[in-house]
Amino acid sequence: MHILVTNDDGIGSPALLQLKAQLSQFGRVTIIAPDRNQSATSQALTLHRPLRIHALQEDVYSVDGTPTDCVLVAFHGKLVERPDLVVSGINHGPNMGEDVFYSGTVAAAIEGTLQGVPALAASLVTRQPTDFREPAEIVGRLLRQVLVRGLPPRMLLNVNFPFRSMADLAGVQFTRLGTRVYEDTLVRKVDPRGKEYYWIGGEDPVWRPEPGTDYHAVHAGFVSVTPMQLDLTDHAAIDAMESWSLGL
Ligand code: MN
Repeated sequence: MHILVTNDDGIGSPALLQLKAQLSQFGRVTIIAPDRNQSATSQALTLHRPLRIHALQEDVYSVDGTPTDCVLVAFHGKLVERPDLVVSGINHGPNMGEDVFYSGTVAAAIEGTLQGVPALAASLVTRQPTDFREPAEIVGRLLRQVLVRGLPPRMLLNVNFPFRSMADLAGVQFTRLGTRVYEDTLVRKVDPRGKEYYWIGGEDPVWRPEPGTDYHAVHAGFVSVTPMQLDLTDHAAIDAMESWSLGL
């Protein structure tokens, strides 16, 4: 069993070594992660310049690229044996609801799924400093279940941990992606030379508190595990659209 651990927060994240420590019980763990923070890079590929890889220590590599680049290096770089499993994270901050479309953490897990192996993305819902030890241990428990039960092809797990000690967790909930209320996502300011600039950011996201969602579960103190599928097709809409007449 060879497990690839990657992330989008960069090779300096303490979560990587915590995962390596917790997941080594299942086999060999290789860390291949971006050399700097690549949060919100989604599934971006680096196509217009070469990728440089640095071996930092045994089974630990940094790549001057995106999380998805890292997964491709692991599967096709002739650097390490082909991974049997991809674990991405643990992200320092949530990846819930529609944010999965922006997330480099989730994208790396999606890339693992595209490469044909089970994959899991994990995120800790806090911006405060933390050592990630307890969520890494729970990732290990989840992985044990994945190894016993397997995951269907084209399906991955997106896990979000509330920021509380393991003893204080309310349990685990299997959830759907929640819905975010978008506001204040772009800030307009004026620079010291009087020129306008824009900065993507603003307030922390507001969520619709719908039961059954990842946000609702985490807010109530549960670990949220969302099974995600790659097929974004709206299958019901295909039939409904048969009546569209385009004169063709
Ligand atoms: Mn991140």
